Amino acid sequence: YVNICMPEPCCNSKLNMILLPGLSFLSCFFFIVCFSFFYFKFFNGFSDYPDLRKHNNCMASALSPAVYARLRDKVTPNNWTLDQCIQTGVDNPGHPFIKTVGCVAGDEESYEVFAELFDPIIKDRHNGYDPKIMIHPTDLDASKITQGMFDENYVLSSRVRTGRSIRGLSLPPACSRAERREVERVVVMALAGLKDDLSGRYYSLGDMTEKEQQQLIDDHFLFDKPVSPLLTCAFMARDWPDARGIWHNNEKTFLIWINEEDHTRVISMEKGGNMKRVFERFCRGLKQVEHLIQERGWEFMWNEHLGYILTCPSNLGTGLRAGVHVRLPKLSKDSRFPKILDNLRLQKRGTGGVDTAATGDTFDISNLDRLGKSEVELVQLVIDGVNYLIDCEKKLEKGQDIKVPAPISQFRK
Ligand code: ADP
Ligand code: MG
Repeated sequence: YVNICMPEPCCNSKLNMILLPGLSFLSCFFFIVCFSFFYFKFFNGFSDYPDLRKHNNCMASALSPAVYARLRDKVTPNNWTLDQCIQTGVDNPGHPFIKTVGCVAGDEESYEVFAELFDPIIKDRHNGYDPKIMIHPTDLDASKITQGMFDENYVLSSRVRTGRSIRGLSLPPACSRAERREVERVVVMALAGLKDDLSGRYYSLGDMTEKEQQQLIDDHFLFDKPVSPLLTCAFMARDWPDARGIWHNNEKTFLIWINEEDHTRVISMEKGGNMKRVFERFCRGLKQVEHLIQERGWEFMWNEHLGYILTCPSNLGTGLRAGVHVRLPKLSKDSRFPKILDNLRLQKRGTGGVDTAATGDTFDISNLDRLGKSEVELVQLVIDGVNYLIDCEKKLEKGQDIKVPAPISQFRK
């Protein structure tokens, strides 16, 4: 048995010299061929393409297998990838109350590196705005607003918010703990410079009791806990509540959220229907905040095509959501209500925020688009639109007929 299986010792060394290197070369070659075959055949961009067949968000409509394959291996200077951008849209096929975008940016550069995906999403979400060729306008002159006082039998509260990001620091889906704390430090230091009716103080979430936090949420001043899968799947709940908080003035009419979905959210709000006054305070406060940030050597992310850069493409441009809590018991039960909102480019939410259903007859109605129109234009659009809805409600109360208005036109191609 030994003689058969084992060659003679002299033959053995010869065999080793010739056969073994040959064998190792062949096995390496075989391994490389197999690996490449598996990698390119099974793990190329196409094989990694997510299953989007049941999805109803803007990302799913824009992300073809070819676009995915071209972008999958690209990274931003902060090492942010396409897969990280789209994970929230992959994991959340739809949303029960609004049509979501389905992707987020990890940094300012995401919008350039992944423009082949982001540009069509932006066009889809912002009524045809083409970020390649169009220039976004900014106008914070509240004196141009007309008809800014709503009928308070219907409008319970008015609010205008935007977001601003600090250039050079990663956005909430991607930021490190240190970056997040730096945002908090820079912004809180700057806000200490606000004067008169705008002066106030910062309340860190970590220092608040559960009860204090819940009270602020219930009173609509504070963002919800990170319960929304839209947020968690976009990696925005990491380290909660580290470096999160709210700054507000004494009257709680001017508020700044820190490190929720954006580095900052700047909010002006009050009870009742005086949207013009709310917008006036918003413009004045926002200009002061920007000035105070710039004084310390920082600036906001901005470019002329996308306006202010924020985490979600739905917020690019002005970042502005002007809205009211409005009672519409009759109109909301009319089958034409969704079409009317659509044609007026208005969005409906529940009064507890984006993840809540409308309870009863009261809705959060706000502008759908943020990009391509200025702050003044968008607030005016909400004023005109909400006044139209209230008119419809009054007509229905009297048993009169209502009309679906013509759709607000798209941007020209
Ligand atoms: P945002 O788009 O600013 O993040 P959300 O839909 O997440 O808004 O809601 C955040 C909070 O702001 C919620 O508590 C919501 O009730 C409150 N809110 C929104 N609009 C108004 C309004 N017009 N009046 C009072 N509270 C509002
Ligand atoms: Mg929100």
